Amino acid sequence: MIQAALLREVGTSPEVVSVDLQAPGPGQVQVRVKAAGLCQSDLSVIYGKIPQLTPLILGHEGAGVVEQVGEGVTGFQVGEHVIFNWVPSCGHCWYCEHERTDLCEEAFMQMTLGTQTDGSTPFALQGEEVYQFSQTSCFAEQTVVPENALVKIDRDLPFEVAAVMGCAVLTGFGAVKHTAQVTPGSTVAVIGCGGVGLNVIQTAKLMGATTIIAMDRTEQKLQDARDFGATHTLNPLHTPDLIGATLDLTDQLGVDFAFEVVGRPETIQQAYGLARKGGKVIVVGVASPDQEVTFNAFALPAESKVITGSWYGQARMEEDIPEITRLYQEGKLKLQELISHRYPLEQLHEAIHTLEAGEARRIILLPGGV
Ligand SMILES: [Zn+2]
Ligand SMILES: [Zn+2]
Repeated sequence: MIQAALLREVGTSPEVVSVDLQAPGPGQVQVRVKAAGLCQSDLSVIYGKIPQLTPLILGHEGAGVVEQVGEGVTGFQVGEHVIFNWVPSCGHCWYCEHERTDLCEEAFMQMTLGTQTDGSTPFALQGEEVYQFSQTSCFAEQTVVPENALVKIDRDLPFEVAAVMGCAVLTGFGAVKHTAQVTPGSTVAVIGCGGVGLNVIQTAKLMGATTIIAMDRTEQKLQDARDFGATHTLNPLHTPDLIGATLDLTDQLGVDFAFEVVGRPETIQQAYGLARKGGKVIVVGVASPDQEVTFNAFALPAESKVITGSWYGQARMEEDIPEITRLYQEGKLKLQELISHRYPLEQLHEAIHTLEAGEARRIILLPGGV
């Protein structure tokens, strides 16, 4: 039996309970979770904004140590340090064969089904199967995942730093580097300065953007944004006309790259308005599947803006994680500074409350205790 954060039903409060964990089968790896990040997406699952089957063990951003390997596993050994990849690519669908592993059909399907590709889940509660979130479920002392849901990391990396790499950092870093391809001297706007938004900001700075306008309703987050490289900050509570203010900061052009990191139709439309003609609008925030956003039909050709989504930073884990590790070790990416709160797993409720209150950069849950 292991302790894990169980969501019995969508819309209810998750509980930390004892569940059964199966030993790793063929191709599976058992991991002792050392640190896990609480992501907005976990809240979206709790509230049903990201539809998932229940009962479900939460958590998709985390790091740990390999505890046991199943038959046929060749890539990992007991004792190695790893992080989770919540889009474990199958390697054989059209997207995987065309260097878009972020859009892997199989990974997406398993995320919907809440199981691994063989239909199994490693968790059970009193004989009843418990679903696994994105083949990961790392709000648990231990989990069992398919081999391709893991990436090896440097042993010197603190586990909490490694944990945030797996979602918040990669999503922001990749959105800037791979999706937007931000260029030196460019102008950037970022709506939403939570864990992912701060990584958009610091990566944009790293890639040479010279004007970075950060927008958020929380003053603390705007202070964080300045610490991570924003050159200007705007609070819509004080500056309702964000588009007008952005035009004033960009010679009445609008920005080259506008990032939406909130996941709401209004802010997606706002991001569109912030970009200059021919500029790029990158939607990183995840809205719920029943929401729609509209754009002026004439403006689409006339302004020729590029609207694109960015899922998991369009990441290529095998290349991006070593690069992010190097940039962190060279002091070029602030990762330790991303972590503002730590809670033992048992205090999940307090952690959720802190995230909802908008007070946190990134919250780390420690299944082994603080
Ligand atoms: Zn996440
Ligand atoms: Zn695939």
